[in-house]
Amino acid sequence: MPVESVQIADAVVTAIRAAVEGNPQRLALHQPEFKGNEWNYVKECLDTGWVSSVGKYVDRFEEQLATVTGSQYAVAVSNGTAALHIALLLAGVEAGDEVLIPSLTFVATANAVSYCGAMPHFADIAESTLGLDPEALKSYLRDIAVTRDGCTYNRMSGRRMRALVPMHTFGHPVDLEPLIEVCERYKLVLVEDAAESIGSKYKGRHTGTFGKLASLSFNGNKILTTGGGGAILTQDESLAKRAKHLTTTAKIPHAWQFEHDQIGFNYRMPNLNAALGCAQLERLPSFLHRKRLLTENYRQAIADVPHMKLYTEQAFAESNYWLQTIILNSPNLELRNEILRRTNENGLMTRPVWTPMHQMKIYANCPAMPLPVTEQMAQRIINLPSSPICAGDE
Ligand SMILES: *Cc1c(COP(=O)(O)O)cnc(C)c1O
Repeated sequence: MPVESVQIADAVVTAIRAAVEGNPQRLALHQPEFKGNEWNYVKECLDTGWVSSVGKYVDRFEEQLATVTGSQYAVAVSNGTAALHIALLLAGVEAGDEVLIPSLTFVATANAVSYCGAMPHFADIAESTLGLDPEALKSYLRDIAVTRDGCTYNRMSGRRMRALVPMHTFGHPVDLEPLIEVCERYKLVLVEDAAESIGSKYKGRHTGTFGKLASLSFNGNKILTTGGGGAILTQDESLAKRAKHLTTTAKIPHAWQFEHDQIGFNYRMPNLNAALGCAQLERLPSFLHRKRLLTENYRQAIADVPHMKLYTEQAFAESNYWLQTIILNSPNLELRNEILRRTNENGLMTRPVWTPMHQMKIYANCPAMPLPVTEQMAQRIINLPSSPICAGDE
């Protein structure tokens, strides 16, 4: 190991310690915090017996989500992957279609496409946003897309391209406006994977409200959690109704009769989880505030360490800073791995970004545009301990 990598990795450990001063020695990547009404609301579910798929907290959570995000409708479901699955079905994705998604994402984005019997088609990201690169996408589609009968086809595969799914990486909003233009030009349905970006805004408006549909996640490691859970956002009343129907086994409402008019899904969020969600949503302003403080602490501490910088939001964005992120100045696997090793050895949980989808066997045979930025960034990203508590109690 070159001496320099070891020294830089030690400097990163020192910088993290300085930024999170006053915290315990061991820090998780992202730990949940339950200091509000979580106990009260969950206890009420247990006391009243309303723990499962019916109960007031599900309705209340959906209303609160709509208010916080400025979305017309929110439908709570069992997890973020389920939310994306239903969002894609309602976007009209059918078996045999292709869906454009970033290669640099959590596997759930690609899996949800696969659940529809469709095929992910991988697009490259921009270094500036860590999300889909609109310019690269435009020139790629100019080459491969053919439009007929109001639909766009991939002329290499012959398959219809139905939807575009941008993902707001680590909570950082992608540049949506030019992507909306691409969708209009090529008749693609915009579905936002906003799993990581509750609390994040693009040009003042909440992420997840730009697409025809969007998905949120409330998994245990996300900025706020319901234990496990997700939601579908939409601005369209009929889509919201269909989302509710499809995720609740497509049962025709009736006092005693069980009849279903579609093959639906049991993707409901239980009341117990929604109760946790209601309490967590009340705490979102505190989480967001402390995450911004933490970013500033990290930014200053990392500023003196060579070969890297802390990722900070674009001018058009207000990020929730879900995961704090170091970007190495150039791809350097050896330095990256040494930093990961030294930090984790010291009780500071850090991790690299996901393996790009096109580099995994399960998705290696899917169509893809050239992915140079994805492949570089996969070697340059390190996520740091990011819990709100890292910037103190509140
Ligand atoms: C977390 C996440 C999901 C899926 O959410 P689950 O609730 O874990 O199913 C989907 N996409 C992205 C980008 C995520 O980070």
